[in-house]
Amino acid sequence: MNDATLVTMAGREPERHAGVVNPPVYHASTILFPTLDALEAARPDRGVYYGRYGTPTTFALEEAVARLEGGDRAIAVGSGKTAITATLLSLLKSGDHLLVTDSVYAPTRHFCSATLARFGIETSYYDPLIGGRIAELIRPNTKVVFTESPGSLTFEVQDIPAIAEAAHARGALVVMDNTWASPLYFKPFRHGVDISIQAATKYIGGHSDLMMGIVTCTEAAYERVWRGVMEVATVAAPDDCYLALRGLRTLSARLERHQRSAIEVAEWLRGRPEIAGVLHPALPGDPGHALWRRDFLGASGLFGFVLKPCPRTALAAMLDGMELFGMGYSWGGYESLLIPTHPETCRTAVPWRTDGVPMRIHVGLEDTKDLIADLEAGLNRLRRAAA
Ligand SMILES: *Cc1c(COP(=O)(O)O)cnc(C)c1O
Repeated sequence: MNDATLVTMAGREPERHAGVVNPPVYHASTILFPTLDALEAARPDRGVYYGRYGTPTTFALEEAVARLEGGDRAIAVGSGKTAITATLLSLLKSGDHLLVTDSVYAPTRHFCSATLARFGIETSYYDPLIGGRIAELIRPNTKVVFTESPGSLTFEVQDIPAIAEAAHARGALVVMDNTWASPLYFKPFRHGVDISIQAATKYIGGHSDLMMGIVTCTEAAYERVWRGVMEVATVAAPDDCYLALRGLRTLSARLERHQRSAIEVAEWLRGRPEIAGVLHPALPGDPGHALWRRDFLGASGLFGFVLKPCPRTALAAMLDGMELFGMGYSWGGYESLLIPTHPETCRTAVPWRTDGVPMRIHVGLEDTKDLIADLEAGLNRLRRAAA
């Protein structure tokens, strides 16, 4: 089954729900067992047991995402960051070493340097472009190599197959934050990843109205991760699982549009005199383009660009007057967003240097003519204010 079909089918069983197309929302804490035998035979890792372990709504979402990612089993949790933290806690112990890409989502870095360090787990950051040379950084106590591709804010594409080969040869597991591409545009398990993380808050939810994370594992990694996540006991709420499933059904159609519009906007930005550079791996000439073409099936609507140096007042003149591009965190909804970023503040392995102003843009589902007109007016305000 092709993805555009699978995304509409996976996890659905209308015949079990009176023919209703979408799985219903089960609100549950207590699950009743009819007999002492049934009570004693029940297991939290097999079917419905107690609300904290999930309900049929949760299981429908988990099954759908696991199939789309190409993994064996998935676990839904309360946020993307929880998916990251609960996974790392389940895989690491005091005395272990962790390798994390320098381009990682900044709150992941913060968890490593604040919480994991407090528990005696050491983190080293590596050049996102390191590829197979990661082998030189793997120590006997390195248990996990954490990847994210393209990188948050800076959009470097990682050579995941080369990293996975080196990690596996030395007994380390590969975790990937696969949020940018979504389960449709990068297939982590075909490229050697053991555990893939989605901030379902972004494209899976797709409508800027829910927080959720999903961890998908190989069969070999699932047991450990499931136990660890259940110890931390961070549950995804059934209403949010319903919303995530509803968002998922249109993911293929939305992403196609996000991809097409973002490339159009990125190419337009590239031609503007106010712009020093565009960071978008789907553009020919981008340093990550060859790897992106080799490994990815598409590009989403999120990318970066760098404005030539300008005073803060000029940046404010541009951003405060935008009509369609909102300023706010998160992305992956139907609406366009534009914010300045500060990658130089969250780099330690490879400093990120620019004299310009780095920006992150999410191209939503609006008409690109309207979006480009909004950007053009904004850049004109910036130029006038800078003069
Ligand atoms: C947003 C984001 C997260 C965290 O997801 P939340 O649901 O906001 O906790 C993790 N990784 C990446 C790449 C993200 O963009």
